[in-house]
Amino acid sequence: MIRRLEAQGITDKRVLEVMGRIPRHLFISNALWDHAYADHPVPIDCGQTISQPYIVALMTQALQLEKGDRVLEIGTGSGYQTAILAELAQHVYTIERFAELSEKARKLLTDAGYTNISFRVGDGTLGWPEEAPFDKIIVTAAAPDVPPSLLEQLAEGGKMVIPVGGRQLQTLLALTKEHDKLHREELCACSFLPLIGREGWPDQETWLQHLL
Ligand code: SAM
Repeated sequence: MIRRLEAQGITDKRVLEVMGRIPRHLFISNALWDHAYADHPVPIDCGQTISQPYIVALMTQALQLEKGDRVLEIGTGSGYQTAILAELAQHVYTIERFAELSEKARKLLTDAGYTNISFRVGDGTLGWPEEAPFDKIIVTAAAPDVPPSLLEQLAEGGKMVIPVGGRQLQTLLALTKEHDKLHREELCACSFLPLIGREGWPDQETWLQHLL
């Protein structure tokens, strides 16, 4: 997987080293272990996915993490990306809307010895105002627009990586907040599951009820 990531253009040695060390298969059900290191997303519980390794590496590299960083992650999912962030930053605050996924990730990462991760169940589009500002914010689900609450909770000089676009196809953005202005870099086209919440997409049920 690491040689493939290098061939795909991932250059940050710290990202490659950490991804080479963290056993990705432990975040996936045994029945899917054959796919754990393959170049595609893999299903996890609650109809969600663990992102493709290349996208995980690209997003992590774009954050330019430093050891003292406080990071907000939206979409804990399996906890795989959370573990990578926890290795490279000081503290990770991670929010997941499904309690079942959050609990599973909390158990796995606590058993693995991580002590620098705080977990929350809820609507991550609203961020974690009590712990703001954050040096880095990573959103691992697709938003129609950048949620204003997350922008507000990003520190001056901070970076946010987020897929923004339609429900099926998006552009992965790296945003830097400089003197209250936003510098925007487009990383690649991507396809994430939707970010469901007050400042994201309505959930499918509410959406259907609205149409009927
Ligand atoms: N980073 C995860 C990993 O390494 O396994 C994969 C994340 S998965 C592609 C997207 C996650 O975002 C799902 O677990 C989904 O439930 C979660 N999600 C969607 N909308 C959310 C919201 N408003 N707040 C928190 N989590 C949300």
